[in-house]
Amino acid sequence: MAKRSPVRVVFLGGLGEIGRNCACVEVDGRIVVLDCGVMFPDPDMPGVDLVLPDFTYLRENAARVEAVVITHGHEDHVGGLAYLLRDLEVPIYGSELSLGLARNRIDEAGLAGRAQYVEVTDGERRSIGPCEVEFIPVTHSVPCSFALAFHTPQGVVLHSGDFKLDLEPVDGRRTDLARIGAISSDEGVALLLSDSTNAEEPGFTYSESTVGATMARVFAASTGRRVVVACFASHIHRVQQVMDAAVASGRKVATLGRSMAKNVDLAQRLGLLDVPAGALVEIEDIDRLRPGDVCVISTGSQGEPMSALSLMATGDNKWFQVTDGDVVVISAHPIPGNEWSVGRVIDELHRRGAEVVHSGSEAVHVSGHARQGELRTLLAVARPKAFVPVHGSTATSSTTPSSPGGWASRRTRSSCARTVTSCVSMRRGCIGTAPCPPATCTWTGRWVTSVTECFETAASSPRRAS
Ligand SMILES: [Zn+2]
Repeated sequence: MAKRSPVRVVFLGGLGEIGRNCACVEVDGRIVVLDCGVMFPDPDMPGVDLVLPDFTYLRENAARVEAVVITHGHEDHVGGLAYLLRDLEVPIYGSELSLGLARNRIDEAGLAGRAQYVEVTDGERRSIGPCEVEFIPVTHSVPCSFALAFHTPQGVVLHSGDFKLDLEPVDGRRTDLARIGAISSDEGVALLLSDSTNAEEPGFTYSESTVGATMARVFAASTGRRVVVACFASHIHRVQQVMDAAVASGRKVATLGRSMAKNVDLAQRLGLLDVPAGALVEIEDIDRLRPGDVCVISTGSQGEPMSALSLMATGDNKWFQVTDGDVVVISAHPIPGNEWSVGRVIDELHRRGAEVVHSGSEAVHVSGHARQGELRTLLAVARPKAFVPVHGSTATSSTTPSSPGGWASRRTRSSCARTVTSCVSMRRGCIGTAPCPPATCTWTGRWVTSVTECFETAASSPRRAS
């Protein structure tokens, strides 16, 4: 029998870190690049605007690179394309929206002529380079996201993409677990690469549709006042729900920030955003409206220094001056590393007299990433032979369950607690990021599934008399 070609998976970024997701799937020396994102710089990187994947391997093997396939349109998955295309000219495969979002950046970089876009649809299977790639719908915080199944000579390599199992998504498009189950039954999954962002969070992530009810409540409580909502410009479902709540409370909506205006326009053209006739107004026209008739949807939810919200906070925004009584909703959670910037923006907004609503005070945000219950469900359905947690810090990657009932065996700290008992006894010396196996807490007898929970249990429970 002929020997089957080996398959290599090479990571150029996105392992043990949040951002710059980029990997290569390589068969018979032919390379397909899987995502190409950027990472926000850490506070200890002064003067650095963006951090890119290490493209050295791709530059040195440019002739062997056949294509780029993208899971979804977030910056940490497509933002690096505008840099990669300077060195390579290859087709880019993705959903119409993902390609549209990537294209904005590529055009801005003056590389429009070097990009060739190939649109794919839900469930489509394409022959790309050395293997067949299947695009499986998943729910996430940007519409039209995919998990990718690479059908290779060594079996199926399944990449979850960024995903959650939202049973009531705003657009009704659910994660196609049935297809993943069918692949598992028919061919088997040789390797699963799974999102591990929320691997330390027990339970299930709330549905995106729950944010709509909170928004309606916030708008109802803000009668007679201007409302600004900051969120990711690519989060079209969030934008939709903000618009719905604004229009239902009799407001007009203006966008603020270049990417927000572009993405609203793109999503409308693709039929992904439903804007009632007459609801949108230009930002320069909002001063003609009564305060209670105004809603502004803005960029800057991560406290980025030159974003619309940051400029609002410092009083430098040309279009919107924050005044007493304005309500500013930050409908996002800071990406790790951005907490300080977001905190500073919140402080400045308060100083200017705004009421600030954020995820710590109201349920104005839910994550786009799966928690432990969903990660276990994916593992139970996919039943992979091998497993690599991706898209997370070293801590979350290590905490990701490697089987539906178990946990990854890799440890991040040599002193990691092996049991809850030893964890509790070590809690003063442990930073709380190392994974513990699930166990029964010796103090309370309760089932404990994470180090964090173990700490909370230990802190709040009196020690049992021995
Ligand atoms: Zn994402």
